[in-house]
Amino acid sequence: MSDCIFCKIAAKQIPSKMLYEDDDVIAFHDINPHAPVHFLIVPKQHIATLSDADDTHAGLLGKMMVLASRLAKEQGCAYERNADGGISGGYKSLINTGPDGGQEVYHLHLHVIGGAHPWRGAR
Ligand code: 5GP
Ligand code: ZN
Repeated sequence: MSDCIFCKIAAKQIPSKMLYEDDDVIAFHDINPHAPVHFLIVPKQHIATLSDADDTHAGLLGKMMVLASRLAKEQGCAYERNADGGISGGYKSLINTGPDGGQEVYHLHLHVIGGAHPWRGAR
């Protein structure tokens, strides 16, 4: 869509701090981070909201979730089981949908928000 900001980022018409790109998705740092780690995973295809996704998008959505885990690890906020049996790290992964879901950009995207206690600053 010509007036969509995330389509423009995917097309490199608007700069972003890119973390990952392949034929299907891009990931880049959120311009207004809510935590030490806050990036977005965005399909290159324009899908306005999660409610517009259907069975044909199942593979794409699964890919986005698996990528969230991989990139969170690369960004230093992986969930870890430690040798002493303790656990540490972790992150939020969320998709806002529609006005009541707090969605501002109407191009489907998965937030990954991590670092220390990300829920204190996250929506
Ligand atoms: P939503 O509320 O739609 O789930 O989240 C949209 C997110 O996109 C917000 O966290 C906002 O900071 C981010 N965002 C909006 N415009 C831009 C932009 O031009 N570049 C980047 N990197 N992030 C943006
Ligand atoms: Zn778009």
